[in-house]
Amino acid sequence: MIEYNYPLLRHNSFGLDVVAERFFGYSTDSELKDYLRYEYDSSTRMLHIGGGNNLLFTGDFSGTILHSSIKYISIESETDDNVFVRVGAGVLFDDFCRQAVECNWGGVENLSLIPSQVGAAAIQNIGAYGAEAKDTIVEVDAIEIATCKRRTFGVQECKYGYRSSIFKTALEGQFVVLSVLFRLDKHPRPNIEYAALRDFFDCGYTPNIEEVRDAVVSIRQSKLPDPKRLGNAGSFFKNPYCSRADFELLRRQYDDMPHYDVSDDLVKIPAAYLIEKCGLKGKRIGNVGVYDRQPLVIVNYGGATPREIVALADEIRQSVNRKFGIDLMPEVIYV
Ligand SMILES: Cc1cc2nc3c(=O)[nH]c(=O)nc-3n(C[C@H](O)[C@H](O)[C@H](O)COP(=O)(O)OP(=O)(O)OC[C@H]3O[C@@H](n4cnc5c(N)ncnc54)[C@H](O)[C@@H]3O)c2cc1C
Repeated sequence: MIEYNYPLLRHNSFGLDVVAERFFGYSTDSELKDYLRYEYDSSTRMLHIGGGNNLLFTGDFSGTILHSSIKYISIESETDDNVFVRVGAGVLFDDFCRQAVECNWGGVENLSLIPSQVGAAAIQNIGAYGAEAKDTIVEVDAIEIATCKRRTFGVQECKYGYRSSIFKTALEGQFVVLSVLFRLDKHPRPNIEYAALRDFFDCGYTPNIEEVRDAVVSIRQSKLPDPKRLGNAGSFFKNPYCSRADFELLRRQYDDMPHYDVSDDLVKIPAAYLIEKCGLKGKRIGNVGVYDRQPLVIVNYGGATPREIVALADEIRQSVNRKFGIDLMPEVIYV
């Protein structure tokens, strides 16, 4: 069923009251195929969305929104050490994490509670607490929008990088993900290398993956606003890269500036630090604001318009640029 003037309020985590000209939701591969075969028109704008947790609709959407409800989790094969699990693109990633942990299959427990559909997780290469989706992805099954041809991308072909893949670069907007094949570990080795997780557990204690999942959920809930209560799209900006020489100059002025070494010449600076130093943490303008517990998050206190969010994001970028000469780039996708 194609629906017209479809409200997207429930389909974007900012909670923006915008409308799509057309909306097509499907729950099987063949429904999508039929739609593309008979309705696809290259002159019409088309966007496939997941849960809308990384999208900023800047207004009503003129064109067609596609949305997957392909929901299954099935074992494809097993070895002594691994289980290969195929997951439909419309499954909530956290439902998959929960089920994997219940079966004591390791690999995705550190990614617990990231709001994402499985298809989007493979597009975005979601990551948290020292793990990324690409670490467990074996292949991505997709369909090319223009030709309706199916193609399987091995993990190398996906060209994964930091929150990036070939589906966000060379092949942007050209494929719809149908399912993802994951390799999980039957003899899990919990990964608590990430500082926040190390600190959570007593020194010397080795948790099982259920305890790791519980820890990740609890840390996330204490730091990030729940989009169901306070509209947001997680980290609004990427952490900027900076040459080591520029960083040393900045550090003469700001001796507490944190950084991560990326290479001999390159460092990454937490955007949250830069925003906080501009005095913007907790700042509220009308219906929008900078979250008081995590300045990287822009929140909708209720009834915000896209324009208000864009204006606040612009103000943050300008303030950081004026103070530090650094241009923050958005992590959320402007639509
Ligand atoms: C509170 C909060 C916390 C977050 N924390 C994290 C975090 O820790 N780590 C992290 O990596 N991200 C995080 N995010 C960002 C977000 O969860 C991820 O970007 C996630 O992958 C978005 O999933 P989604 O299903 O909502 O996809 P959407 O936001 O709807 O779409 C994201 C992209 O995927 C494309 N897409 C979606 N489904 C398909 C499909 N089936 N086929 C083709 N293209 C598709 C869309 O076109 C778009 O380009 C957070 C967001 C929030 C709101």
